[in-house]
Amino acid sequence: MLSYWEQQSFSHYNHVIIGSGITGLSHAVELKDRFPDWRILVLERGLLPTGASTKNAGFACMGSATEILDDLETMTETEVLTLFAARKSGLQKLRERLGDDAIRYKAEGSFELIGNQELYAIERLDYLNDLLSPVVGGPAFSVDSTSMQQFGFGGSYAAAMIENLCEGSIDTGFMMRALIGMAQSKGVEIRTGAAVSRFEERASGVDVLVKSALIGDDLKLTCEHLSICTNAYTKALLPDEDIVPGRGQVLVTEPVEGLRFKGVFHFDKGYYYFREIDGRVLLGGGRNLDFGGEQTTDMSLSELIQADLEQKLREVILQGCRYKISQRWSGVMAFGETKQPIVKAVSERIFGAFRLGGMGVAMGSNVAADLAELVAERA
Ligand SMILES: Cc1cc2nc3c(=O)[nH]c(=O)nc-3n(C[C@H](O)[C@H](O)[C@H](O)COP(=O)(O)OP(=O)(O)OC[C@H]3O[C@@H](n4cnc5c(N)ncnc54)[C@H](O)[C@@H]3O)c2cc1C
Repeated sequence: MLSYWEQQSFSHYNHVIIGSGITGLSHAVELKDRFPDWRILVLERGLLPTGASTKNAGFACMGSATEILDDLETMTETEVLTLFAARKSGLQKLRERLGDDAIRYKAEGSFELIGNQELYAIERLDYLNDLLSPVVGGPAFSVDSTSMQQFGFGGSYAAAMIENLCEGSIDTGFMMRALIGMAQSKGVEIRTGAAVSRFEERASGVDVLVKSALIGDDLKLTCEHLSICTNAYTKALLPDEDIVPGRGQVLVTEPVEGLRFKGVFHFDKGYYYFREIDGRVLLGGGRNLDFGGEQTTDMSLSELIQADLEQKLREVILQGCRYKISQRWSGVMAFGETKQPIVKAVSERIFGAFRLGGMGVAMGSNVAADLAELVAERA
């Protein structure tokens, strides 16, 4: 039961957004810029944002050479180029919106470790550079034959290394704090611990039902329009959407004395990624070892993949170094039939942007702006 005051001040909004990840928060900012007088509310089920946006590796990435070559097996050159351009301009938008200092952006490029079975990628670098040059404006990829030994990588995996000049890194925590701060400074209201159980569209608006143990029944909020930015969790609200969850597991070490590399690294078509952060090594991936098992929204860890990550750390990345693993976690990405995110009007008053895949840091800002355009067309 709501009081008169709660009813008057807290139950009706012009626009409600479900999900406070990079997409939901950027969308709130985009809408506030277009409609400064609107009351906009973001509902987040976790006490913290509890999706991929606070669990990721902080790569400002657009695709490694082997990953792009792999995409070309199933996508046309135009589709690959369009996706690459969307990642590049999305990243630019994120940097312009929040500022490089606020997100700790580092334009250090990235490196891909090439295994013996992937040496074919080196033969195709000129082709890739030509393909991407309309977007990059020059060659993106080159073979780096000197840094590999200097970085100390070893074992049977790394036969060569490809440098990618387009990529960089951010500090994911700083980025999300900056985005929350920007949304709040513009007057966006954010409620955490607010899991939406369902919504109902009416002729004059949308009822949004939020789980509430205290009230007994679900708390009903009303709004004129609703945006769903729940990425991998969208099927619980929109069961017919083509969304397949894909869990990503990560570990991070204590600071490693004498760590010999900085920057961000990929290997095995982007299925593994590692970077230096605060003198530590963050390593994630291995989903390809058990695609079926990792198609889950359960945020626990699997022994198989954690053991594999430990092996890669020991044999490829930190060979001969002393280190200790300090933390492990998982987060859930969203995949589907294609690598394109879904941005759509679900109905007259309900909109959605979800399925951001493994490069949502680069994609989120543009996807959020595209969704705001759709809302603006109907408002
Ligand atoms: C381990 C890992 C590593 C990654 N590394 C990178 C990387 O290095 N670079 C990169 O570009 N991308 C990376 N990604 C992908 C990237 O993080 C995502 O694509 C991006 O964060 C998606 O943002 P989003 O806002 O769409 O979704 P999310 O961040 O998942 O946000 C969805 C939000 O909706 C909330 N929610 C869900 N259901 C409800 C409900 N019913 N009611 C209220 N709230 C709800 C969730 O709690 C969540 O906060 C990685 C992902 C993972 C998991």
